[in-house]
Amino acid sequence: MSAPRRITIVGGGFSGVSAAVQLVRHSPVPLAVTLIESRDRVGPGLAYATHDPDHRLNGPTWVHAVDPVDGEHFTRWCETHGVFEADPQAVQANGTAFVRRAVLGAYLEAMVRGHASWAATGSTIRTLQDRAVHAWEADGEVTTVTEHGQTLTADLLVLATGNAEPRLQAPLDPALAQHPGVIENPLVTARLLGIPREARVLIIGSGLTSLDVVSTLQRQGHAGGVTVVSRRGLRPRAQPLASGVVAHPVGRQNLDRLLGPAPTFLTEVKPELRTWIKTLRARIRDSVARGENWNVPFDELRDAVWQLWPTLPPAQQRRFLRSVRPWYDVHRFRSPPQTEAIHREALAAGRVVHLAARLRSLAVQAGTHRIDAVLQPSGGGAPRTEAFDVVVNCTGLDAAARTAGNPLLQALVSHGTLRADACGIGYAVDANCRVIDSEGEALSRIRLIGPPTLGTFGDPGGAMFIAAQIHRMLPDVFGTLQRPALSTAFLSSSYSAQGLAVQSNSR
Ligand SMILES: Cc1cc2nc3c(=O)[nH]c(=O)nc-3n(C[C@H](O)[C@H](O)[C@H](O)COP(=O)(O)OP(=O)(O)OC[C@H]3O[C@@H](n4cnc5c(N)ncnc54)[C@H](O)[C@@H]3O)c2cc1C
Repeated sequence: MSAPRRITIVGGGFSGVSAAVQLVRHSPVPLAVTLIESRDRVGPGLAYATHDPDHRLNGPTWVHAVDPVDGEHFTRWCETHGVFEADPQAVQANGTAFVRRAVLGAYLEAMVRGHASWAATGSTIRTLQDRAVHAWEADGEVTTVTEHGQTLTADLLVLATGNAEPRLQAPLDPALAQHPGVIENPLVTARLLGIPREARVLIIGSGLTSLDVVSTLQRQGHAGGVTVVSRRGLRPRAQPLASGVVAHPVGRQNLDRLLGPAPTFLTEVKPELRTWIKTLRARIRDSVARGENWNVPFDELRDAVWQLWPTLPPAQQRRFLRSVRPWYDVHRFRSPPQTEAIHREALAAGRVVHLAARLRSLAVQAGTHRIDAVLQPSGGGAPRTEAFDVVVNCTGLDAAARTAGNPLLQALVSHGTLRADACGIGYAVDANCRVIDSEGEALSRIRLIGPPTLGTFGDPGGAMFIAAQIHRMLPDVFGTLQRPALSTAFLSSSYSAQGLAVQSNSR
């Protein structure tokens, strides 16, 4: 048997774990995978580390499988681990289940353990709790160095560094993050649990994270009032649950749909933003007139964004990010039914109010802990000042902070291994997730997956899109790993069954 090919993966959230598991399951030759994660648990990452029972996955279990060729994998794991008995609220009338986010974290942790030793090929996954701080490629090998002085040499490096932690956005003073009443990162559940019952709370931003905060506060019997401020006053749409709208795909059905051709109603028109929006709106009107739900054509677009986005000129991509994204996001990131019910009840009881306004400033009142917020109503009128005890930052993930706080990404950018994508919200990669360096060369031995590829693929944020993205690059990765030891013939035959071609690489 040949010596195992060595793979280093940096980042042990959904992306890193899905990459490790898919590589081990589908590699025709033995792999020795090392998964480096700076947190104390490998699996939950930033997204699924919450312990709050009211923070749920925003999609059904079948979109969260670690390996997309087995779409029911996570659903089955939930069944065999008693998740649905322990949490009967998870399962909806049509059989779709929206489980707690912590459950996905536990599943991912279990997946790493379960694939630590893969008998079919002798592949292994080991984990290393450390922070990667630098990496470089030389002589067909990639070296990664960690904060605690470990040096790992591998045949391939996969960067799965995920989302940057939420930060206060301009024009707010970053120093406000030190104030005890300001919660800069709402993903730290303990901070939310510590909000006093009588506190007047301002939530900045009205996306799904704001609904999580509202859910926590309502469960704690919050009595102090909650104001949610956002520029447009938009709120996430609810996940549609009417019978027949949500299917229950089996096996690789969902993956095949994602890999299939983009819908003709979009490919047959000019690839430009304005035309797509017009066409989509018309399609939604037609669907609704036929009695279907609005999300059916929307989801056809969403699932093909990875194919459509790269055909848009960069200027239009940037225009989308500037002006269309808030509208796209409220349809794309939908609230799970349980969260929706909590939020509606709080709104109806007047415990939560939404305000369409721009937050111009926050300032701590002299001699008190109260915080004055100056709010400029979006519909016009004079700015008004309101006092709050607690301010929670839910402005979303900070795409602009691509490298800040991540020494590995900083090092890779400063050495020219990574460069920003055309939109400036992530890093440039090619169709097989090979990073494109500052000279425009695609590096076969360094791959970047998940949220940092947003600018290239348009929407690689959700678990099922990340899993599909990894699946798409596998043949090319195995092609890279075959040099010098693997046999091309073996790889080609092993993948021909799935209709995937092993491609040649530039380096
Ligand atoms: C709060 C939240 C909720 C979400 N809910 C859903 C949902 O319900 N369904 C869905 O499909 N999608 C959801 N998403 C989208 C989410 O982006 C993806 O589903 C997925 O979890 C992203 O995984 P990731 O591993 O790329 O990123 P992350 O979860 O951010 O994990 C990246 C990991 O890499 C580690 N890391 C980074 N740099 C280094 C380094 N230099 N050295 C060592 N370790 C490092 C970090 O510590 C982190 O653990 C959610 C996102 C967030 C933020």
